[in-house]
Order: sequence, then C-alpha cells, then structure tokens
Amino acid sequence: MIDATTQTRGTVVIDVDRCKGCELCIPACRPGVLAMSEPDEVNVMGARYPVLFAGCTACRACREVCPDFVFEVYRFDEPQNLPARSPDPGSVADGADGGAR
Ligand code: SF4
Ligand code: SF4
Repeated sequence: MIDATTQTRGTVVIDVDRCKGCELCIPACRPGVLAMSEPDEVNVMGARYPVLFAGCTACRACREVCPDFVFEVYRFDEPQNLPARSPDPGSVADGADGGAR
C-alpha cells in the first residue's frame, strides 16, 4: 500500500468553543482541508466545529471569514509532508473534547 502524503505549509489552531457552527470556513478553505466535526462531536455550545486535515497552505482565508475569531494561522519555516486525510492533532485548542471541562 502506498503511504500518501500531502505537502503542508502551515497549520491552524482552532478555538473550538468559540465556534457557532456556521460553516463559513469550510468553502472558504480553497485547498479543502477543513471539514466539520461529526454530528456527535460538539463544543460547549452544542455546535459542530471545523477539523483540520493535512495540506494547509497558511493562506489565512479561514481566519478572515470566521466571524468569531476561532482560527490562529501559523506558517511552517519549511513545508512538511504529512499523511494525507488525517486530522492534524495539533490544530484543536483545549476544550475540544465535547465540552467536558
Ligand atoms: S466560520 Fe468560524 S464560527 Fe463558523 S463554523 Fe467556521 S470556525 Fe465556526
Ligand atoms: S489557512 Fe487557508 S489552507 Fe489553512 S485551514 Fe485556513 S483556509 Fe484552509
């Protein structure tokens, strides 16, 4: 089996509990590396929230479109090859465990 990787230029930190689930960020992400969490994965407000997959370009479009300041965007010094279609575990801020604080 081929281990596919995706060139990834940056990452985002997602402040999950600020998210109201409007989904504006999903089409705004041109590489398509954001997806909403599963229906049973919700934040303290009961809203689904975005999850980041490998392939972020650090373009900042998500940060610009989000009305609730959920995203911080970071660009890597050197692009990284990360496993394709796997969630970026560093992208979720504390409290992304369904709200059990
Ligand atoms: S745009 Fe912001 S508030 Fe709307 S779903 Fe995305 S992160 Fe949540
Ligand atoms: S910075 Fe750009 S590529 Fe990365 S998640 Fe946000 S919109 Fe997508």
